[in-house]
Amino acid sequence: MARRSQPKDVPEELRQSLVELLTNFSEELKKSDLRPKVVALVPAFHTLRDLGSSLIPKSEAASARERIISYLLQYPQMVIDGDELMVVAGIDEWARRLRELRVQFGWWIYSGYTVSEMAQNPDDAASFQALGIDPSKIRPNQYILMRTEQDRDAALRWNLLNEIRKKKIATKDKIIEYLRKNVGVQVTGEELSYLAGEAKEWARRVRELRTEDGWPIVTKNTGREDLPVGVYVLEEDRQAHEHDRKIPDVVRVAVLERDHFSCTKCGWNRSMLSKEDPRKMLELHHKKHHKDGGDNTVENLTTLCNVCHDVEHRGDE
Ligand SMILES: [Zn+2]
Ligand SMILES: [Zn+2]
Repeated sequence: MARRSQPKDVPEELRQSLVELLTNFSEELKKSDLRPKVVALVPAFHTLRDLGSSLIPKSEAASARERIISYLLQYPQMVIDGDELMVVAGIDEWARRLRELRVQFGWWIYSGYTVSEMAQNPDDAASFQALGIDPSKIRPNQYILMRTEQDRDAALRWNLLNEIRKKKIATKDKIIEYLRKNVGVQVTGEELSYLAGEAKEWARRVRELRTEDGWPIVTKNTGREDLPVGVYVLEEDRQAHEHDRKIPDVVRVAVLERDHFSCTKCGWNRSMLSKEDPRKMLELHHKKHHKDGGDNTVENLTTLCNVCHDVEHRGDE
């Protein structure tokens, strides 16, 4: 639609002209011909959009993109309808601007679509619920700004995402390749969802990488309470010892909680994390080894830091 030449930006004035346009429109409605009615309604559409975009003053946000992020920043970690963003943006292509905010500017804007994918893991669903967001009720065209600071490295990560996404390999392999190139980095569910493309159930693949293949991928509810909701971190670029793999998340969390998120040998925990200290993460160890019939029960597992764990396994191979 062609824009009018000089949109006004005073909300009350715009409201008045809209009322005027709609009042005059009652004359058009009486006509039998369709086209004059449609044509007469066009200015009302434009004025309604101008009214919407005028709600955030130009001095605060000059472009549609700035209005969208300005609006989201006023309501962080809340579910916002795409229709609301359409109103404040005042343009047809608001969804494209939203994507730019995410991909080029590094804002953590989650779509309802991704949130419901992530929520396939009960642990992640629970962390959304703790924020007052019910993942089972969220609709695909709703959005949540998860973090109010820009993630400036995100733009670089999106380039890498595009590269890996194109590869003709399994979703699970794409995910672990991406995470291994971002060790220790907070990666958003939105990124992994994009990587998986059309493939559903990527969240389940992430869980398999952790519980079956022994990759130390942590989330808020699987051992790293300090993390924000909706992010994944590969803590170290190494898989768990063969016999310590295949530990279900419920068991993992129960062991960590019992051991107060600390190494049962040396007492290390994440609050003691420092550059010089080789202790970087907590791992679970089977007291009676898997191969000797030890099972995945809370009783047979103990929490160790990576250094104490290596000591425990010295001479295994
Ligand atoms: Zn230790
Ligand atoms: Zn072990």
